[in-house]
Amino acid sequence: LANKKFHPEPTVVKVGNALIGGDELVIMSGPCAVESREQLFETAFAIKKAGAQILRGGAYKPRTSPYAFQGLEEEGLKFMKEAREETGLAVVCEVTSLAAIETAVKYVDMLQIGARNMQNFYLLKEAGKTGLPVLLKRGLSATIDEWLNAAEYIIAEGNPNVVLCERGIRTFETATRNTLDISAVPVIKAKSHLPIIVDPSHASGVRSYVKPLSKSAIAVGADGLMIETHPNPAIALSDGPQSLTFPQFEELCEELRPLAALM
Ligand code: PEP
Ligand code: MN
Repeated sequence: LANKKFHPEPTVVKVGNALIGGDELVIMSGPCAVESREQLFETAFAIKKAGAQILRGGAYKPRTSPYAFQGLEEEGLKFMKEAREETGLAVVCEVTSLAAIETAVKYVDMLQIGARNMQNFYLLKEAGKTGLPVLLKRGLSATIDEWLNAAEYIIAEGNPNVVLCERGIRTFETATRNTLDISAVPVIKAKSHLPIIVDPSHASGVRSYVKPLSKSAIAVGADGLMIETHPNPAIALSDGPQSLTFPQFEELCEELRPLAALM
């Protein structure tokens, strides 16, 4: 079902007013974690002004350490829904369990399956059953075929609204948090009809690499970008070092404008 051979025309996934996989580049942005209503609202207005169409924000955070901030859960989802009503932006949130899916469907426009759960087949099936668009991040060490098989699990539930997200993979390189597999974009375009976006924030883990990697994603034909932003990255509860400030995000969008049609 994810294979281009049996479905040659590109899939366009509608999330709120944004069309992912169409003629325009779609930008999702927002904090790694929803920390407070103020932090989220400030971010939502700033990213909207800069040109983003979708607000991202984690309410269930899959942290490496059990002692790190785990997310605001349903309270965070409520803030996301309020931010969507205030700004008109569509909202996407990661879900990490069946309980999270059951709660999130009341608040969000799109479910995100994170890298760590890409092969949680039970979760993929449950996300598929909701019928909501699903943003499927590539697993930390997943091959492209494994990733497309994960997408297949969602589509097999009768939900064709899958968007893939390349977010870097594990390699021997330590200068960046992960290694952005930029070739995944043309490979996916050759093998599948599904739209693919690139997340240079998690791929690099370093703020200063986000802009050049964003440009490379556009050059190879990505349908969109996911960029982490925060009002004050120095005090972010997660992923501060890779988060852009609002002026940096605005500058990024300005520089991308001549390279791609933004919505
Ligand atoms: C995220 O998007 O906040 C996230 C945790 O990403 P990943 O699953 O790609 O690590
Ligand atoms: Mn993050």
